[in-house]
Amino acid sequence: MKNRTIFFSAFLAGLIFSCAKNPFTGKNTLALVPNSEILPSAFQQYGQFLKENKVISGTSDAKKVELIGVKIKNAAEKWLNANGYQGYLKDYQWEYKLVDSKDVNAWCMPGGKIVVYTGILPITKDDAGLATVLGHEVSHALANHGQQRMSAGLLQQLGAVGTAVAVGNKSEETQQMAMTAYGAATTLGGMLPFSRAHESEADKIGLTLMAIAGYNPEEAIVFWQRMSANSGGNKPPEFMSTHPSDETRIANLKKLVPVAKAEALKFGVIFK
Ligand SMILES: [Zn+2]
Repeated sequence: MKNRTIFFSAFLAGLIFSCAKNPFTGKNTLALVPNSEILPSAFQQYGQFLKENKVISGTSDAKKVELIGVKIKNAAEKWLNANGYQGYLKDYQWEYKLVDSKDVNAWCMPGGKIVVYTGILPITKDDAGLATVLGHEVSHALANHGQQRMSAGLLQQLGAVGTAVAVGNKSEETQQMAMTAYGAATTLGGMLPFSRAHESEADKIGLTLMAIAGYNPEEAIVFWQRMSANSGGNKPPEFMSTHPSDETRIANLKKLVPVAKAEALKFGVIFK
């Protein structure tokens, strides 16, 4: 009983110290698993994924993924530096890979490890479409959504095997959580869906990033309309039409276009 009390006190203390304000969302986020533990594991899993899948390089599509990815990254850096968050991306190791797959999908792991599947290219269609997808995916990473999902998973796990965590072995635990959160072992391409709130946040941040990178945020609406019209019944969770509903998503984005344009204007980017 005494051990239990000590454990929960330590746990609560950890919880308080692990809440950090996220510059992109302005919210305190639950970060039970720090980036220093998440990123090496994410990098390793990304490397493993690339080994096990067909990475396309040297084609004009692959070059576009890289080029537009870099522009989105630069936009994020500009925004952070302008808002007093120098060094926020210091542990990031950006990579932008095109992978051969019919899946209509793309993702970004913590630390800036991005994959775009060839299956989404007919829907992204042009540079602005690709910028919409990359902006959205990068935003999940910037807003630490994966980390929060992992923290939530850790909490669940604590309910079941809390004492195991209390006695140590945290890195093994973290590894396991990483595996669960990213499904790297078997289903990295079919990641667990983010919550509706996280999707909306990624849309909002992504819209601003694409605008700062010079892509008209109105094109994001056109992209999501194309995505909505893509009725291939096997959309992976990340781009499932009901999460949030296409209509809600598009309505929200329309409202946010002027916000994104105003933000871009601060960096000298002007849209007609
Ligand atoms: Zn998303």
